Amino acid sequence: MQDQVLLQVEDLRVQFPTREGIVRAVEGVSFEIKTGTTLGIVGESGSGKSVMAYALLQAVARPGKIVGGRVLLNLAATMQNGQGEIVDLTALDPRGKKIRSIRGKEIAMIYQEPMTSLSMMHTVGFQIMEAILLHQNVNKQEARQLAIEMLGRVGIARPEQRVDSYPFELSGGMRQRAMIAMALVCTPRLLIADEPTTALDVTTQAQIMELIQELQQEIGMAVLLITHDLGVVAETCNEVVVMYLGEVMEKANVISLFKDPLHPYTRALLRSIPRLGHGKNWELEPIEGMVPDPYNRPSGCPFHPRCPDMMPGVCNVKPLTTTQMVDGRTVRCHLFNE
Ligand code: SF4
Repeated sequence: MQDQVLLQVEDLRVQFPTREGIVRAVEGVSFEIKTGTTLGIVGESGSGKSVMAYALLQAVARPGKIVGGRVLLNLAATMQNGQGEIVDLTALDPRGKKIRSIRGKEIAMIYQEPMTSLSMMHTVGFQIMEAILLHQNVNKQEARQLAIEMLGRVGIARPEQRVDSYPFELSGGMRQRAMIAMALVCTPRLLIADEPTTALDVTTQAQIMELIQELQQEIGMAVLLITHDLGVVAETCNEVVVMYLGEVMEKANVISLFKDPLHPYTRALLRSIPRLGHGKNWELEPIEGMVPDPYNRPSGCPFHPRCPDMMPGVCNVKPLTTTQMVDGRTVRCHLFNE
């Protein structure tokens, strides 16, 4: 079961038609995730990471829409007997029965902001039980017990009492944990985690990441981790996708990426984070300039206005292509074209 391709994203494109013009938020993104592994998606704000994640679940906010590509979910990889079908999630009705049976059960999502998925009107227990009763064959009593157990596993003290609390009665950190419990309780095969621990203190962050890793081992769950935190990526991910203005600039296994980043943008990202052992006089190097306005996408390579290796007449003119390297990584930069 381990190492089967669970999700294959091929040339995914998402656009937002607006009065100011078309925003190409996700521009030809391709990658795959295997069962039991963690894929990190990194990039600055505005790189299209979250929109891409929403697109996987057919949940892009309007007026955004998927305009091309495929997202293939291998349901066979989620079955013990290896039987099942491959479903193109982009072809499903966003409000249809099929995608609703996949959301929460096969693919669950956790967000940076818990109120995105928790309702103030119902107790956390009610909301977690609702997810359980929708996807599992258990009665209310058993669902309540499962909810209490999961609240305990995400580190909520006295879960048998907290199960009857409303979200507004909980602290921000506890709400975050309750939302994570709701996502994990149906043991999804793929967990999409969009900056899941940013709002938490370091100890809770570590606890949550440990729990996610435990579940990975127990059920072979794959994780798509969207984060700014390259430290978390180094510790938890197998593969990494680096995004900039909706495009995948580099894709590599985590060791190669940190040891030998190829793309100028990846190198700039890595230079901009603090590292141990550099002494107190070592200064961080922020990335020059800002992510460009999505309405005025630069011609040629979108990173060219900020790139220290920019080749005038090439990088600002020629469209980018993706180069497949011998070690299996990919890089989207004219420096690597033949
Ligand atoms: Fe820099 Fe040119 Fe490569 Fe873009 S294509 S990252 S501008 S060297």
